[in-house]
Amino acid sequence: MPPTWIFDLDNTLHDAEPYIFPEMNRMMTAYVARHMGVDEATANRLRVDYWRQYGSTLAGLLQHSEIDPEHFLRETHRFPELDRRIRPMRGLRAILRRLPGRKVLFTNAPYVYAITVLRALRIEHHFDGVIAMQQTGFRPKPHGAGYRRILAQHGLAAERCIMVEDSRDNLVTAKRMGMRTVWLSRDLRHGPAVDFRISRLSDLTRVAAGLTMSSEDK
Ligand SMILES: [Mg+2]
Repeated sequence: MPPTWIFDLDNTLHDAEPYIFPEMNRMMTAYVARHMGVDEATANRLRVDYWRQYGSTLAGLLQHSEIDPEHFLRETHRFPELDRRIRPMRGLRAILRRLPGRKVLFTNAPYVYAITVLRALRIEHHFDGVIAMQQTGFRPKPHGAGYRRILAQHGLAAERCIMVEDSRDNLVTAKRMGMRTVWLSRDLRHGPAVDFRISRLSDLTRVAAGLTMSSEDK
């Protein structure tokens, strides 16, 4: 039986560095400045501190202020040039087509954004489910809420799942729950939470082939 692949979105399926992340950071800093009544430099520092400490800027704002999370997410995820400026990872559509097994998207981003990006990448039809910020009760990865939700909602055993991520911290929870993990990174120091490290998404087909071989060996 093929595994179920749990994919992160930003910087895993597409490169968010050239357009999406700089724009998002700019919108979040502006929102924090308005919401907390601070100047831009302070807002920028708070945005980064919250992201480091709580896993997302929103999670920090929820801890430290009264805020409507849906309003925050709407206002900080507007990308009018998305279709033109999205940068899929090389070979993305062919990789998803070739990988055997179900695929679920698991992102700390808002739901509408996730769907919009999947459509812009033209890969929406590959995914059986999307777990985004709202589906975790605003408890982002690496909090266990979203991971448990995926297993329950799709009736999956953790041992049958492979999580693919560019953030190693998010793989620690997956590994602890019994999933296998793939870290997309050029960093060679991968540590115990990482079963496979790949430097390009296209190397996933090699991971999949290895899994088939090792299950045939048994
Ligand atoms: Mg990511």
